[in-house]
Amino acid sequence: MQVKKHWAVAASALLAAAAAHAGTVKVDEDAEFSPTGKGWGELVNSPGANGHARGAAKPGGGGGGASNGINYNGGPVMTNVNGTNIYYIWYGNWSSNTAPTILTDLANHIGGSPYFNINTTYYDKAGTKVTNRINYLGSTNDAYSQGTALSDAAIQAVVSKAITGGVLPKDTNAVYFVLTSADVNATSGFCTQYCGWHTHGTIGGSDIKYSFVGNPDRCPSACAAQTNGPNGNAGADGMASIISHELEEAVTDPDLNAWFDRRGMENADKCAWTFGTESTASNGAKYNMTLGTRNFLIQQNWVNASGGFCAEAF
Ligand SMILES: [Zn+2]
Repeated sequence: MQVKKHWAVAASALLAAAAAHAGTVKVDEDAEFSPTGKGWGELVNSPGANGHARGAAKPGGGGGGASNGINYNGGPVMTNVNGTNIYYIWYGNWSSNTAPTILTDLANHIGGSPYFNINTTYYDKAGTKVTNRINYLGSTNDAYSQGTALSDAAIQAVVSKAITGGVLPKDTNAVYFVLTSADVNATSGFCTQYCGWHTHGTIGGSDIKYSFVGNPDRCPSACAAQTNGPNGNAGADGMASIISHELEEAVTDPDLNAWFDRRGMENADKCAWTFGTESTASNGAKYNMTLGTRNFLIQQNWVNASGGFCAEAF
């Protein structure tokens, strides 16, 4: 998920996608991008670069595909009939912080919601759709095993340590979230290039999907939509939106070769930092949905139907 200062980039890409669908704007035919998982497109300079060959995009099996402003590129999608599992790794110091309570509630209630149902408009090569179900299966704590300045490799090491150490199960039908406290930086660009990202890697011989989400308390102006949250924890309330963004991207594009548009924007990227209709909580914070007993302000996601559009629910 990009930082807010790049919102204009995301918005222009969205307009370009919509306009291309309408056939009124010429899109640069020479540019083809593949997703990096960090919310910006990475230009593919030659066929086969990044394992994503120019022209490899395939029409959607269900008749959706390009006509909805996002394309299926043939890779795996997380379509397990029992849903996708998630695990949290609380990295750093989260003592006396309400974030674990708030974000565990999010994890337990995002599945089955009208919001997550948007992802059921995505499908794999066999035409099997994403299920509107998320199973939160546990968490662990990591007290700075890699220090306070994490490279991308260090973040994978955090996930690897939890799995190979037997603290969390090795689960290829899961997304592992590395959630860092505000004193921790991710050195490839947290707060300047992104607020979170998702990717995959080989851990213990298996393809493991994982995500980094930093605490926006480190940089509220870049990574939080508002300085007050509906749950009274601006950092955690900001993380709720970023976790949701990365989760829906990981489910529909787990190996970065499934669903994204011609500019490399995954489903959530196309709606980043847009929230639709908002209400005001008793503490003055904005929210746009209720999951379980809590209100959240969570960014919209791209519906892969009816030409494609951003929505809070489907
Ligand atoms: Zn993204």
